[in-house]
Amino acid sequence: MRVIAIDGPAGAGKSTIGRALAARLGLEYLDTGAMYRAVTFAALGSDVALDDSAAVGALARALRLEVGERGVFVDGVDATRAIRTAEITGAVSVVAANSEVRAEMRSRQQAWAAARGGGVIEGRDIGSVVFPDAELKLYLTASPRTRAERRVAEAGGDVDEIERAIATRDHYDSNRRDSPLVRADGSIVVDTTGMDVDQVLAYIEGLMAGKDQPAQ
Ligand code: C5P
Repeated sequence: MRVIAIDGPAGAGKSTIGRALAARLGLEYLDTGAMYRAVTFAALGSDVALDDSAAVGALARALRLEVGERGVFVDGVDATRAIRTAEITGAVSVVAANSEVRAEMRSRQQAWAAARGGGVIEGRDIGSVVFPDAELKLYLTASPRTRAERRVAEAGGDVDEIERAIATRDHYDSNRRDSPLVRADGSIVVDTTGMDVDQVLAYIEGLMAGKDQPAQ
């Protein structure tokens, strides 16, 4: 299996870089954040309370979930856009802290990669927990301001407000008990502040080329 793991805080450019890297390497790409967003979307659309971890866990296990090039489908419903709303973004960290949900998503992610011989997989715990033996583990980050500015450029909004919302979500994701956002052992930190997409890709390809060289 050839797995490239990309982790890091919100707005660091993981999706953009992950997609581009996958295309260049001829691998498929998996956005695991979209999976947690999809569970949140389904839970909010049901009569289950988000803090009822057993019920949300059962809902996650029963969910028909498709995350891919065509978009995100939850029990057959196209939720590609709906999972990106502020409501979902504000609620997803609670659902992602649920260990039953995490166990289910983790096994789906591992099955996804096994069926494809690997892939470029992006999230928060990919290099630390889901694929600790990944061929390459990247921890993509950027200054909070840069990350907020990128989000505003993509989707609009007030930069100060978005910076605060990102900080809150990162704090929650970094401090939960189960599989928090960490710099995984063996990961390479790439600070993309002040870099554009092509520069980041060139840097990562340089890292990969270096890895292919025999040790001196
Ligand atoms: O990547 P994105 O910002 O869409 O992720 C949404 C949320 O999903 C994160 O804030 C985090 O709570 C959760 N997540 C996670 N583990 C992953 C990917 C995402 O807990 N591997």
